[in-house]
Amino acid sequence: MEHIEFLQLCEQYRLGNNSNLAEKLLPAVRTFFSKSKQGKLPVIWLETSDSGDNNIAFMNTTYPYLQQVFTDMIDLLYSNTFMAAQGADAVQQLFSSAKALKGRFVLVVEGAIPTNDGGIYNVIVRTKKGDITALQAVQELGELAQYVVAIGTCASFGGASSAKPNITGSVGVSSVLNREVINVSGCPVNPDWFVGTLAHLIMYGRPELDELGRPKIFYEFTVHKHCQRRSYFDKEDFAAKLGDRECMFSQGCAGPKTNSDCPYRQWINHVSWPVKVNTPCIGCTNKDFPDGSSPFFTPLPEKEKHAVQSDKKGERK
Ligand code: SF4
Repeated sequence: MEHIEFLQLCEQYRLGNNSNLAEKLLPAVRTFFSKSKQGKLPVIWLETSDSGDNNIAFMNTTYPYLQQVFTDMIDLLYSNTFMAAQGADAVQQLFSSAKALKGRFVLVVEGAIPTNDGGIYNVIVRTKKGDITALQAVQELGELAQYVVAIGTCASFGGASSAKPNITGSVGVSSVLNREVINVSGCPVNPDWFVGTLAHLIMYGRPELDELGRPKIFYEFTVHKHCQRRSYFDKEDFAAKLGDRECMFSQGCAGPKTNSDCPYRQWINHVSWPVKVNTPCIGCTNKDFPDGSSPFFTPLPEKEKHAVQSDKKGERK
């Protein structure tokens, strides 16, 4: 599959084609592997400070299903959730595989990185020689990796782990590394965004990123741009309360300032998303989430409403 075809495939939801990325991703990757000498993508997955929600989202990937991702796409060398090894064996596996595959593996980080007090608020390994903090591990492994992928908003920008008062000094992965990080934000991430990014790395290398380091194929447009309730917004027909069918800008919807393809990609095997079930978008892919969206369900300031409305013609071109 040519790169342009892959990008078109990612766009097909937006263009109204029922065919979807998930259905065609795995055959494309299999064809790629059959024609190339390249093996599966080596991945080391570190979980740091988060709720584990991105692990769960990843497990909910549908076609390719999780087992297919493992058997056809990636070689998961370390993950405290998925691997069988424990204790010293797991630590040995972590650092020995990173050194053996220097410059050839993907470091996936799930969670923010505490930096206060030397990073002691997240210790990923406890040994007789001392503790290894998430900060130390990410900095050491980040130097060795070919690509670093931050999965979820905590890893991308600090997210809920860095919400006020942030006594642990938690930050996104890119703040502790002197290199590019591919941010696949979301709280949690949509499995397609993550699996699609891995597929792009396998077949074409680094995807084109937006100004926040996110793959444009998934984050280029605002939620508001393709929302099914957009016609209500344009007519200034706003919901009086949660549950009403009109535009939920009046109920604090953050769709106008949030970039993701939720309205057409959707969630839970691509069948629904928050606005479809009468919940305003809370802006979970944003750099300032959750503080910038809090308190939830509170309308944006009037001046932002006018800014969105005055921009609407340009945005729909
Ligand atoms: S404000 Fe929210 S509900 Fe209204 S059109 Fe935009 S994204 Fe949809």
